[in-house]
Amino acid sequence: MQVSRRDFLRVTAGAGAGTAIGGLVGLGATLAPARAQAQELRIRDAKSVPSICPFCSVGCATLIQVKGGRIVNIEGDPRSPHNEGTLCPKGAAIYQLHVNPNRQTKVLHRKPGASSWDVVELEWAMDRVAELIKKTRDDTFLEKLPNGKTVNMTSAMFALGGATLDSEFNHVCQKFWRGLGVVAIENQARI
Ligand code: SF4
Repeated sequence: MQVSRRDFLRVTAGAGAGTAIGGLVGLGATLAPARAQAQELRIRDAKSVPSICPFCSVGCATLIQVKGGRIVNIEGDPRSPHNEGTLCPKGAAIYQLHVNPNRQTKVLHRKPGASSWDVVELEWAMDRVAELIKKTRDDTFLEKLPNGKTVNMTSAMFALGGATLDSEFNHVCQKFWRGLGVVAIENQARI
């Protein structure tokens, strides 16, 4: 539908931007072409690389658009027979997993009793975590219950995975923790 200058002024006068857009839509204007054009500009000349969403075992297909060696967009792949171009809210946010100035990229350590964090080397942090896991397990491992039942477990540690861990990592992670006798294993992705 054509929206005249007069119509435009009528619906936008005295209205905020959001309601003005609502008014235009009310007049029958469709924003779909504008959105499509903006999206097209964003991915123009970009190379599309097929991939899958890493977050759950549904395995929705995605298209990763790359320009100049940088990811510029990630969206559902319409050719996929099971997600047909759609992504759930988590999958739709994959782009932010790659391009996000707020993402923590350094290892931080807070000493016991300290109120601030220090940046530490990854190697040091890995050794420290391994050392504490071994000590805690050695100190708390329980082979049998008082009634003689074999349990081979420790309840002194638990594992909590984050929503951005992928299916394969979680698979290996839970095998690792179960191998140590940890029984409290949870992942935020199930919420
Ligand atoms: S997290 Fe969402 S988008 Fe990703 S595979 Fe699972 S259902 Fe699909």
